[in-house]
Amino acid sequence: MAETLTPDICVIGGGSGGLSVAAAAAAFGVPVVLIEKHKMGGDCLNTGCVPSKALLAAARRAALMQNPGAFGVTAQSVTIDFAKVHAHVHDVIAAIAPVDSVERFTGLGVRVIQGEAKFKDRRTVVVGDQFEIRARRFVIAAGSTPALPPIPGLEQGPYLTNENIFDLTERPKQLVVIGAGPIGLELAQAFRRFGSEVTVLEAAQPLAKDDPECAAIVLDQLEREGVVIRSGLKVVRVDHAGGGVKVTVEAPGGEETIEGTHLLVATGRQPATGGLGLEAAGIAYDRTGIVVNKQLKTANRHVYAIGDVAAGQLQFTHAANSHAGLVIRNALFRLPVRVNNDIIPWVTFTEPELAQTGLSEAEARKRGVKIRILRWPYHDNDRAQAERETRGHIKVITTAKGKILGTTIVGSQAGELITAWTLAVAQGLNIRAFTGIVLPYPTLSEIGKRAAIDYFTPSLTSPWVRRIIAWLRIFG
Ligand SMILES: Cc1cc2nc3c(=O)[nH]c(=O)nc-3n(C[C@H](O)[C@H](O)[C@H](O)COP(=O)(O)OP(=O)(O)OC[C@H]3O[C@@H](n4cnc5c(N)ncnc54)[C@H](O)[C@@H]3O)c2cc1C
Repeated sequence: MAETLTPDICVIGGGSGGLSVAAAAAAFGVPVVLIEKHKMGGDCLNTGCVPSKALLAAARRAALMQNPGAFGVTAQSVTIDFAKVHAHVHDVIAAIAPVDSVERFTGLGVRVIQGEAKFKDRRTVVVGDQFEIRARRFVIAAGSTPALPPIPGLEQGPYLTNENIFDLTERPKQLVVIGAGPIGLELAQAFRRFGSEVTVLEAAQPLAKDDPECAAIVLDQLEREGVVIRSGLKVVRVDHAGGGVKVTVEAPGGEETIEGTHLLVATGRQPATGGLGLEAAGIAYDRTGIVVNKQLKTANRHVYAIGDVAAGQLQFTHAANSHAGLVIRNALFRLPVRVNNDIIPWVTFTEPELAQTGLSEAEARKRGVKIRILRWPYHDNDRAQAERETRGHIKVITTAKGKILGTTIVGSQAGELITAWTLAVAQGLNIRAFTGIVLPYPTLSEIGKRAAIDYFTPSLTSPWVRRIIAWLRIFG
């Protein structure tokens, strides 16, 4: 007979979003059950952020050693032991795993159940015939899986996705990547730096969700490193033959075949709505995910959906974490909450990094806002010169009166530099805030202050403003 549990909160999915809800609820002394069917930590820890960033870190070391540039430091010879790269990636996962483990969460007071959750009715979730959970509130944090395009022949042979690429212990000789989004391009650069021949195929535009002017700098760098990026073509067929793969594409000049030893499919994510019994619970969903309102509540008011599985949300770990915070405030404290995608930043961790916060230029124009665009290049930054990291720039979007709407940074450490601008967007700061702060010299963050000073340039007819600008440029 099934054991019946009646917690205040039942969380489905032990990934980024689900773990945050469970940990916070337990910290407030609220009875909470967490159900995970596979690995604690979900995508981010096991097959997403963590292994991909660990792989990129190793690839960066390889690139630095192979191209010492003008530093005057040369390595005699560089060898890549890919089995050791694989071990490094899995060591990093293992180092973080205890934080997300069953043991830790049990210690926090969470009842962790390992198994597959399914709604039986609007108020009940079952796990096989072992558990029946009737909670006051449910939170679905079931994540997403790789979206596979309907390409003839694809499933007739082996292919890689984020779910198995980090298991490779040998470097692919020729890697064909379908999909030039952040995941495809991060992995393309990493494998190229390990010495693989890499071709990326994209039906539309690479990095289509990012500012095109800044994305172009990333694409240019990848091409300089030898990644072949082909966009605007349709993959019509995949043939698995002789241990390799042949990908036929429809290009402007006719059909072409691209050969490789390995194929990576990185064509986006699909919400993991299957098997949850959503119909039984009266929860609406479509192919974009579980339909939620601004409070992340589903059509069943006792159930929230957060993270990658929720329709219309940004699919990032920090987005799932922020959803968790909103759900806790709303479910436990009955506080009004509202999800706001405009204040969620994102970073593509290629080199150079590409970071976005708030509105991009295109988004601001689409909303009909009268904007100012402020830029400053890495080239004119002393630290960037010292580090020989002079490619890239900051691009700040403000209203005519200087309110900061958004920022894009492409260049070294962009993912770190975006933090201050995320705070500025979230707090509704004016660009003046950045002209007044004292920053340590020499740091890359000075590019932001320089861009801010640029805001006053059109007023140069006023002698006072001219004097202030001159003063800021000398002492700022
Ligand atoms: C290659 C790659 C790189 C990425 N890099 C980054 C990055 O650098 N930064 C970033 O912010 N984001 C990154 N992401 C995205 C990030 O991993 C996801 O946005 C994040 O993991 C979503 O969290 P989640 O809680 O919604 O889902 P997940 O973390 O995927 O967790 C969902 C969990 O639910 C479980 N589950 C599903 N159905 C059931 C069920 N019926 N019963 C019980 N358990 C169930 C699953 O097993 C899984 O463990 C990356 C993703 C990929 C694929």
